[in-house]
Amino acid sequence: MSVTSGARQSFTGLRAERIAENLARVRERIAAAGADPAAVEICAAIKYVAAAELPALAEAGIDLVGENRAQDLLAKRSEHAGLFTWDFIGALQSRKVRDLAGAVRLIHSVASESALRRLADHPVPEILVEVNVASEAGKAGIAPAELPGFIARAPVPVTGLMTMPPAAERPENSRHHFARLAELAAEHGLARLSMGTTQDLEVAVAEGATIVRLGSVLYEGAGDAS
Ligand SMILES: *Cc1c(COP(=O)(O)O)cnc(C)c1O
Repeated sequence: MSVTSGARQSFTGLRAERIAENLARVRERIAAAGADPAAVEICAAIKYVAAAELPALAEAGIDLVGENRAQDLLAKRSEHAGLFTWDFIGALQSRKVRDLAGAVRLIHSVASESALRRLADHPVPEILVEVNVASEAGKAGIAPAELPGFIARAPVPVTGLMTMPPAAERPENSRHHFARLAELAAEHGLARLSMGTTQDLEVAVAEGATIVRLGSVLYEGAGDAS
């Protein structure tokens, strides 16, 4: 099995039944947080999941997956294209845009001028702009003040925003970052908000997430972690 960047672990022997239970629990948690589960897309982060394990996700009812590396996305998609809608969620190297064109529904993480230039030649249906909401040094993402120009220069439709908030001890600490992203999306008339992972999904949906990117919580107890 190949090691993918950002993967803390990988799973083998995933059981669809347990993933389906985990998925049901996630939907309950979304509802308990005050959001409509039908209005929140669950994008399964598959950097932890080898291609051979993906049919278990489909069997469990997952229809949208997100991969972090272009080459892994293409490899997994070449085996299971029809099982899912495919999104790209990882750090985007602009030279990979060409590979993703024609393979993905949307890229969650567009954050450079060079990626915009590549998209002009190799368009994807939609993009989200990654925003560095907390203005962290060295972190990917467009500064909120730069958003209007960046969106105007995009050669493909910008339909939303994405963020990865600073590492936080408690999910509650991320709330104002999510609220800020929602405010920016509203200001720019953008419908999609990709925010929230396993550790802060309730706070994210309470602040208006329309896509949550979930890994660990879906695979917990469903297979052998290595
Ligand atoms: C892995 C990953 C996730 C999911 O993280 P979990 O903590 O496993 O839920 C979400 N977004 C991105 C960009 C990721 O790389």
